[in-house]
Amino acid sequence: MLLSRYLLPVMKETPADAQIVSHQMMLRAGLVRQTAAGIYAWLPLGLRVLNRIASVVRAEQDRAGAIEMLMPTIQSADLWRQSGRFDAYGPEMLRIKDRGGREMLYGPTNEEMITAIFRDCVKSYRDLPRTLYHIQWKFRDEVRPRFGVMRGREFLMKDAYSFDMDEAGGRASYDAMFTAYLRTFAALGLRAVPVRAPTGPIGGDLSHEFHILADTGESEVFFDSALDDVDLGDPDAPAKLRNLYAMEAEEHEKIADCPVPAERLAKRRGIEVGHIFFFGTKYSQAMGLQVQAKDGSQVTPLMGSYGVGVSRLMGAIIEASHDDAGIIWPESVSPFDIGLINLRVDDPACAAAAHALQAKLEAAGRTVLHDDRDARGGEKFATMDLIGLPWQIVVGPKGVAAGTVELKRRSSGEKHEASMESVMAKLTA
Ligand code: ATP
Ligand code: MG
Repeated sequence: MLLSRYLLPVMKETPADAQIVSHQMMLRAGLVRQTAAGIYAWLPLGLRVLNRIASVVRAEQDRAGAIEMLMPTIQSADLWRQSGRFDAYGPEMLRIKDRGGREMLYGPTNEEMITAIFRDCVKSYRDLPRTLYHIQWKFRDEVRPRFGVMRGREFLMKDAYSFDMDEAGGRASYDAMFTAYLRTFAALGLRAVPVRAPTGPIGGDLSHEFHILADTGESEVFFDSALDDVDLGDPDAPAKLRNLYAMEAEEHEKIADCPVPAERLAKRRGIEVGHIFFFGTKYSQAMGLQVQAKDGSQVTPLMGSYGVGVSRLMGAIIEASHDDAGIIWPESVSPFDIGLINLRVDDPACAAAAHALQAKLEAAGRTVLHDDRDARGGEKFATMDLIGLPWQIVVGPKGVAAGTVELKRRSSGEKHEASMESVMAKLTA
């Protein structure tokens, strides 16, 4: 991709209305633009990151056996009347009327819709268990949309829903999602803490929130600092993490005897990036979902729902990975693999070398953002650091004469001169 033909409106100044670093950097790096309170347009660079985050989420859902589908954003009020939530949901729900006066809404979540679809499609125990998911925009008319995409009104969520014949099956589906979530966040370069969430009005509910620890998080979490020592690559990490104490402050304060010794108890702020919930027959019962069991009896399936804040994750990743100069993208979500800077676009040898390198890297399957603009070196370096691609290659006249370029690792800042061949070999290995 040639930067001269791209749309990358970077800003030098920190926007005054953005309070946290991820919001500032998302605006400065030209990832998003606000179009109304809590509603954002995803600019080309931001969309690439959003799509890559969604791909990581999707891959782990698929691996866990969940099946992808797509439900609409607009839902009918009647569906929500079946569960009793249409009136209960309150002002966060955006309610609209179509031209025939029928009440509709922009979905804040999809329990009702998936339950109705499952009710209409599935009649027998043979079709259970199933976990279905989609990645779709949601709308919640938040009282205080803030921190950019962290708390938007329109936001992208992955939501999955499990259907099981019995309690044990429901818990197994829940556990599969628990593991998938830890894998997902690790693949995004994040250390997520599973926090035991308050149980709902139905006794015996099981729920965890997944928090990324960051000073700008909106929640406060108490946790066993032994969590910090768990190696996320360890296949037993899910089991270990699950057994270690972590609670939101409000819940923690209600506990008389905290099982964690005071010297091991840590307190940090957290960003909620995921939430999983096993709620049994709450929706299946209310909406009349029944399937025939092996013995011929009618059974009300048990359900769980599992959300990941896909667009919020972009903010969380930046909170966790940046320096003064800008974003440092983990390789798994970076909008391009490599930033290629031509320092002298007016020099035919430099231009030829830069274009050739771009072509070779792209032919080898790497994505490249080639800064071929007629701009000063300092501006090009600052832009590349700000947008945070993992690797930078700098092509200049001296190097081209000697057959070398400069290679820089964004995360460490380390740079060295290397032959074009060795750079190719390193970046396409
Ligand atoms: P919060 O407590 O942050 O308001 P929630 O508990 O209402 O979130 P859930 O219903 O659990 O949210 O939704 C699943 C996930 O969707 C959350 O874990 C979060 O990552 C994301 N999410 C929820 N609300 C928003 C929002 N307004 N903007 C961006 N992401 C959101
Ligand atoms: Mg939640």
